[in-house]
Amino acid sequence: MVDALPAGLRDWREAPRVRVLRDGRPDEAGRFVLCWLQQALRARDNPVIDASIVLGNALGLPVLVYHGLREDYPYASDRLHHFILGASRDLAQGCRERGLAFAHHLDRAERREKGLVHRLGANAAAIVLEDQPTFVARWQADRVTRRAAVPVYAVNAACLVPPAVLGDGIRGRSGFLRQHEPRRAEWLATDGAEPTQPAYVGPLPFTPDRLKEIDTDALVADLAIDHTLPVNPVFQAGRAAAERQLRRAVAEVLPGYAATRNDATRPDGASGLSPYLHFGVLGPREVMAAVEASAAGAKHKTKFADELLGWREWFHYQACALAAPERYDRVAGWAVDTLAAHARDPRPAIETLDALLHGETRDESWNACQKQFLLDGWMHNNLRMYWAKRIIAMTPSPEAAWATACYLNDRLSLDGRDPSTYGNIAAMFAGTPSEHERPIYGRVATRGDGSTRSRSGGDRWLAAAAARAVPRVSVPAAVPVDPYLTGEPAA
Ligand SMILES: Cc1cc2nc3c(=O)[nH]c(=O)nc-3n(C[C@H](O)[C@H](O)[C@H](O)COP(=O)(O)OP(=O)(O)OC[C@H]3O[C@@H](n4cnc5c(N)ncnc54)[C@H](O)[C@@H]3O)c2cc1C
Repeated sequence: MVDALPAGLRDWREAPRVRVLRDGRPDEAGRFVLCWLQQALRARDNPVIDASIVLGNALGLPVLVYHGLREDYPYASDRLHHFILGASRDLAQGCRERGLAFAHHLDRAERREKGLVHRLGANAAAIVLEDQPTFVARWQADRVTRRAAVPVYAVNAACLVPPAVLGDGIRGRSGFLRQHEPRRAEWLATDGAEPTQPAYVGPLPFTPDRLKEIDTDALVADLAIDHTLPVNPVFQAGRAAAERQLRRAVAEVLPGYAATRNDATRPDGASGLSPYLHFGVLGPREVMAAVEASAAGAKHKTKFADELLGWREWFHYQACALAAPERYDRVAGWAVDTLAAHARDPRPAIETLDALLHGETRDESWNACQKQFLLDGWMHNNLRMYWAKRIIAMTPSPEAAWATACYLNDRLSLDGRDPSTYGNIAAMFAGTPSEHERPIYGRVATRGDGSTRSRSGGDRWLAAAAARAVPRVSVPAAVPVDPYLTGEPAA
């Protein structure tokens, strides 16, 4: 694979991160290397930007970094737009500080632009984009590649160890860890890359937004997106907020992490980093560097690395190997069969979508979980496990349960629409087969709320969490099916 890369990228230390989506010679008439970011919204330690710089330096061309945001991706809301625009604003600043040109476009009624990446690509020597295995990022990358006339390279920025170096066909997590753990150290180092060319100042086929100078909240209020899902007060947008969260996690959470991480009643028990990791405002390399540099005990660091690298990167690896990681057919065959065999079992408490969305079902513990998603845009890991298992009994069929769990997670959680979303939900719908056959679940193990209820004050905590007042959000007539799973989303 590395042999197929052009000069510069071929010798880059991180070349195994790069996949050739469209082969060919970079266009010598190109004005720049186009670096198109969808989700890795950070200016430094970003392999997509670094690869673009390495290629640009080899070609004697500057890099143009582009990030755009549209109204029509599934679940577009005030919550997601606000978080993404805050990250993009700081990305712009960071790129400028690195000597790189940056262009942003927020698509809106008075500023419609069609096919911008394609049009920018027409002036580029090559396109470097992100290798993301889920959601619109994957679909858009495929689409741009199909239309491109220049070479297209996809770069993995989400993982510390790029999935490609692990080889194909790893089936279980223990096999994955055997391959992954020995390789971590070599990927912790980064050389960065500095542009040798002055920043691009030439023409663009559109007028970019200057996010620093516009009132993005006012702009977002006018967009055709879901305004019923409010901006999240807990996870603030932008690079400074991400750095604060990382400092807090390392200083206050990590020293007791192995003991506190599974206790949902502890506000300081888990790191709270997943929204920033999902949108790439933080990368795993800098998070691990901060963890390694801390004075926290070895067992806490090991536990954290197991979550961030051992679990997160396992789900990324799985997603890269699947054609559609978001679909129910990824769930283990034995689990699909046993759930299907019990699909007609009576479900004593089928809940409406309204009750599910607002956390107003007959299950107090489930409501406590759901209200974290709705209010905080995030949910504690142990609550997520109970939450996902219970949905199987609250909906009419296993397929409806899958669609509902993905919908709630994707729409409400800042870290949703991620390889970890679908991988974890698939794990909750399967896991280790139980010896006992139960109604509704068959041989899929069930899970109670004991890991929270049995904590000191757990009953009180759950009751208070379930009683939180929530905003009324829009309720569709049925759980929407993601358009990119069934065909072409709007162009
Ligand atoms: C049903 C279900 C759905 C989930 N949906 C998502 C999702 O949409 N997006 C998402 O990022 N994570 C998801 N997770 C994984 C996990 O719950 C969250 O990553 C974690 O709760 C985020 O909180 P934190 O940042 O405080 O993590 P911590 O517990 O402090 O862990 C540190 C980091 O390790 C990673 N991590 C931790 N646990 C897991 C895990 N089980 N799988 C993968 N990575 C993990 C995350 O990047 C996290 O930020 C889901 C888990 C379950 C059981």
